[in-house]
Amino acid sequence: MNHYDVIIIGGGITGTAIAHELSKYKLTVALLERGSDIGIGATKGNGGVVHPGYDPTPGSLKAKINVKGANAYPQLAKELNFGLINPGIFVLGFNEADRAVLRHKLDNGKKNGVRDLAIIDAQTIHAREPHLSAEARFALHAPTATVVDPFEVAIAFAENATENGVAILTGQPVTAIEKTANGFVITTARAQFSCGYIVNAAGNHADDVAKLAGIAEYTIKPRHGDLLVFDKDMANKPQTVMFPCPGPDTKGIACIPTVHGNTLVGSTATMKDDKEAVNNYAPGIQALLDGAKKILPQLDESRIIRSFAGLRPVVLDYNNDFFIAESVTVKGFIHAAGIQSPGIASAPAIAETVRDLLDNAGLRILPKGDYNPYRQKKTVFAKLGIGQQDALIQKNPAYGRIVCRCETVTEGEIVDAIHGAIPAHTLDAIKRRTRAGMGRCQGGFCQYKLIAILARELGLSADAICLEDAGSQLLCGAVKGGAK
Ligand SMILES: Cc1cc2nc3c(=O)[nH]c(=O)nc-3n(C[C@H](O)[C@H](O)[C@H](O)COP(=O)(O)OP(=O)(O)OC[C@H]3O[C@@H](n4cnc5c(N)ncnc54)[C@H](O)[C@@H]3O)c2cc1C
Repeated sequence: MNHYDVIIIGGGITGTAIAHELSKYKLTVALLERGSDIGIGATKGNGGVVHPGYDPTPGSLKAKINVKGANAYPQLAKELNFGLINPGIFVLGFNEADRAVLRHKLDNGKKNGVRDLAIIDAQTIHAREPHLSAEARFALHAPTATVVDPFEVAIAFAENATENGVAILTGQPVTAIEKTANGFVITTARAQFSCGYIVNAAGNHADDVAKLAGIAEYTIKPRHGDLLVFDKDMANKPQTVMFPCPGPDTKGIACIPTVHGNTLVGSTATMKDDKEAVNNYAPGIQALLDGAKKILPQLDESRIIRSFAGLRPVVLDYNNDFFIAESVTVKGFIHAAGIQSPGIASAPAIAETVRDLLDNAGLRILPKGDYNPYRQKKTVFAKLGIGQQDALIQKNPAYGRIVCRCETVTEGEIVDAIHGAIPAHTLDAIKRRTRAGMGRCQGGFCQYKLIAILARELGLSADAICLEDAGSQLLCGAVKGGAK
């Protein structure tokens, strides 16, 4: 049985950020993720806005962690080589009642330490956003707000953590936890591990995982949200993240420019019972369209290329705050739970908070001399100049074969992803790393090629290749008596 100082359960943005943080120290660390890849819970179903921190109630844990986490992003993006844009946020006001709410948010933000917030006038917002509704009269402007691709960040955290010695193990659903004299024994569907400390970052299942260790300190329910993706070539695209004036429980439906040049519209917010139900619902889609058109009245629905949904893990009766603490009943068991929005923005600071909790719980945390903060830049063929593309193709002709024509992704990049530091063994894992299948045709033209490449590289038959988790094969056999 392998022993680690710390085992993290859950490989979303929270778990991978913690793995990245702990990899800076002289510790043995493993991360156990139940899914076939990391970042496939709430981390793949959200808006990717690095909220600067004017929303959380001053004094709450979320307020402190949100601002600190958001401030860490620009430097992390440089070190870990992930995409980050800085469009800023407008929270739009349409009437005098909105002005009072926005003043309150401005005040919140200042108390929380958010830099450069201001309420700006109609002329300024319409000059930057010419397609914005004429009804918008002023806005709270948060110029420091950034946007990331959340699963790219989780992959970057995990790859760098691996580079620095952390074991990232996918396909390991934790099914039992036993407290021992010196720590814990964890059983997964495949193996057993022992460790001194557990960090529970299991998202919507954090309460279920805690129960395995005999802990019943909170209950989690998912808050469902629908989102829409618009094509890159959409006319009248927003340059700024634009939210309406928020209601008491929701930030409202926003128009969000993405790192890759698409526009997102999201999100709805509905409490659910089912922790796996990431379906889209018609009323939700309608609410998205109605909400977005209040901001961009000419929004072109024909440019929608995808809808998706995510589930925010909400700790019930906890004032919408994060639950990050050592268990009061089982020592050495740290909760990083209830990481609802803005969990992406907050992840770097959640990781530091968990490190300090482990320190307080008795773990010796000493910096590593040979920690490497940099993640190697991956080849993105579409972003190279013609000369560089040519040289690459001369070295390896696989970079000359375009597989995904919408996003110009080559076979070389797909093979790199399949054999990468956190290997991509499913279609969606390849999509998250390379964008093959993310474009206008959504895989209609390249999916069969990706299946063939995966099957060849992994030595499997095509009908064994999955979209995501086990059981999601796309093919069930040959037609017309053809060979497999
Ligand atoms: C619609 C929507 C919009 C959002 N927009 C934003 C935004 O714009 N900005 C922002 O900052 N935040 C946003 N969020 C919030 C953000 O997505 C979450 O806070 C964040 O992704 C939570 O990450 P996590 O790692 O805690 O959970 P998850 O990503 O869900 O990860 C938990 C992991 O634990 C694994 N797991 C569960 N049980 C087990 C087990 N027994 N054994 C092993 N592994 C297990 C799961 O498979 C999963 O991968 C949004 C969320 C939603 C749903």
